[in-house]
Amino acid sequence: MALRIIIGLVVTVAAAAIAGRRLWWLFRLGRTGQPAPERVQALREHPAAGAETQVTEVIGQRRLLQWTVPGVAHALTFWGFIVLILTIIEAYGDLFSKHFAIPLIGTWAWVGFIEDLFAVAVLAGIITFAIIRLASDPKREGRRSRFSGSHTGAAWLVLLGIFLVIATLLIYRGAQINTGDFPYPHGAFASQIVGHWLHPLGAANSGIETTFILLQLAVILAFGVFVTYSKHLHIAIAPINVLFARRPNGLGPLQPMRSNGKVLDFEEADPDEDVFGIGKVEDLSWKGMLDLATCTECGRCQSQCPAWATGKPLSPKMIILELRDHAFAKAPYLLAGSDEARAALPESARAEAERPIIGDADAHGVIDPDELWACTNCGACVEECPVDIEHIDHITGMRRHQVLVESAFPAEAATMLRNLENKGNPWGMGESKRTEWIGELDFEVPVVDGVIGDDVEYLFWVGCAGALEDRAKRTTKAIAQLLHTAGVNFAVLGPAETCTGDPARRMGNEFVYSMLAQQNIETLNEVGARKIVASCPHCFNTIAREYPQLGGNYEVIHHTQLLAKLVADGKLTPVTPIDEKITYHDPCFLGRHNRVFTPPREIMEQVPGVQAQEMHRCKERGFCCGAGGARMWMEERIGKRINIERIDEALGTNPDTISTGCPYCLVMLGDAVAAKKSTGEAKESLEVVDVAQLLARSVQVPATIGAPPAADSAQGNSSGEEPGPAQAGPDAAGAAEHADGPENQA
Ligand code: SF4
Ligand code: SF4
Repeated sequence: MALRIIIGLVVTVAAAAIAGRRLWWLFRLGRTGQPAPERVQALREHPAAGAETQVTEVIGQRRLLQWTVPGVAHALTFWGFIVLILTIIEAYGDLFSKHFAIPLIGTWAWVGFIEDLFAVAVLAGIITFAIIRLASDPKREGRRSRFSGSHTGAAWLVLLGIFLVIATLLIYRGAQINTGDFPYPHGAFASQIVGHWLHPLGAANSGIETTFILLQLAVILAFGVFVTYSKHLHIAIAPINVLFARRPNGLGPLQPMRSNGKVLDFEEADPDEDVFGIGKVEDLSWKGMLDLATCTECGRCQSQCPAWATGKPLSPKMIILELRDHAFAKAPYLLAGSDEARAALPESARAEAERPIIGDADAHGVIDPDELWACTNCGACVEECPVDIEHIDHITGMRRHQVLVESAFPAEAATMLRNLENKGNPWGMGESKRTEWIGELDFEVPVVDGVIGDDVEYLFWVGCAGALEDRAKRTTKAIAQLLHTAGVNFAVLGPAETCTGDPARRMGNEFVYSMLAQQNIETLNEVGARKIVASCPHCFNTIAREYPQLGGNYEVIHHTQLLAKLVADGKLTPVTPIDEKITYHDPCFLGRHNRVFTPPREIMEQVPGVQAQEMHRCKERGFCCGAGGARMWMEERIGKRINIERIDEALGTNPDTISTGCPYCLVMLGDAVAAKKSTGEAKESLEVVDVAQLLARSVQVPATIGAPPAADSAQGNSSGEEPGPAQAGPDAAGAAEHADGPENQA
């Protein structure tokens, strides 16, 4: 007895010391990150929200259960380990007394039953995990496996460790039944089965009991130590990461740039003291560092990433793992207390500290520029991550540093940024062009001059594409006509409207974004804007959820929400049948980022004759068109084009029409359809329209607004080449013709 107590306690103290040392090291490393007082503040202000996430996400496993089979397997394993804390207490108690039972409940049959039930559930969970891993072996499946790039060896070790925990548990309990030391009279069904198997061994059961109690503790302690050195660290820190995550999630608005815990003021920023984005790993906040350590390497994010799916080097998982590996390798440098200590580090440690965070293979960068700039900000990674990692924030942080400090970004996007600065729209067109669409209507659209009148219910935020891009202008006119038909009083800003700044912000140019955003907020406040209807989901997201960061607070609605309401209220009545099979494409910034999934579908449901057909990837799992994250203004040189991938999926539903609710999507998908028509893969009659256009056709507005485009319409080029995103937007000739800025004369 004394020997097993000594062995048990010595092993426990040794394991606790090793694990504690590692956790202290991780804590110190996390503290080398930037302060994040806003996270603590948010928790102080909304403690109930923090508690709710612990209940729903940690205990309830809500996000894990988004994937049914692995989710259930994980939930069984997680809940099993919580219940099995009782058996760990019993194992330690058994070190001291062979007849140990947990006070009060330790002899209740149902406690023994629950313990065994969850022991079996954990076994079922790890068998499921093993099958999933074998079925999706990256050696066989390559990039198609979500585990591609993950540390699969460590994962198998953990599965083995969990199996040994359960096996040793059931063996020592079975032996206890035979020695009469087992505290539960009945109920522990699995232990009883094992006890039945061991019964023929007679007196040897006493030795088996002692040996397997010690083995059980040794396995648990070894597992505990291993966890602190592996991806399974998430067992300990995922609840903390979830607690301090952005609410409701890391989608929607980007966060303001912060330096040393404060929102960066460009006018007062000190280039030597302030932090501009993420230029080195310690520029991440401690919450960012926590994200890195929390990643479970499950690859759910990777499996949904449109860049990864189309053969590009970007994987949101690998971004996190590359940053984490670099942070760990740089840790000796970061944790060295002085310049002398840093100078005394081995050459390899100092070399790691010198690595640029962004750089190609020649520059030995942590992350390749092709990874960084491939992101469309679609949010699929954030949506899928079971531990609330905020990939877009980290990618944007690195983009900000590249743009603002290094001036290193895809050259083709420079024109867009200059146009935003000089002309207030990405194409550099004159501001007078913003109202040309109004002249194509047969009724007056008031342009705000001074203050918005009390009789005007909505300010219609048209957006740059909606005002200047030929295809998006059809949507704009359809919305205006429908509002007019429904008797909704609205007005537009006309030449006073400028780009919201979204493309600049998503590129990483926070300076240009701030300039445009402040200018727009000033305009909106001057005219007394209260209720805004936006046709572009990017404008919608920016005005509704980013402008409040700068003091611009408005009630913003997307046009599909307003039109669905007008139909529901009987102010618009679709009557003309549209006998077509139509598949709806969810724009990322409308759907995933802002949870507007239902209104566009409700509109389609109300149009007589429409047969709605969902694509496999829809709603929360919708697949990007390829234009977000300022990708609209960058060339797509690597892999398959994202818009082509999306259209291939749409064509699988054999649609007559593809509908959407975003001008970016309209252009990208329209271009892809044009490319498919040129190769004969899509029928000539196939078109891409906004839901507003569909509704307008059914509500019977003038033919020039909702009608299908003519055969020679501006549905992309007709050259037969697949057009690149940077070619999208107002037709290039049109842009040049209308432009009057110097960059457009080049
Ligand atoms: S936001 Fe979209 S494109 Fe960017 S890393 Fe995440 S899933 Fe990939
Ligand atoms: S970032 Fe999240 S979703 Fe992606 S591998 Fe890590 S834990 Fe899984």
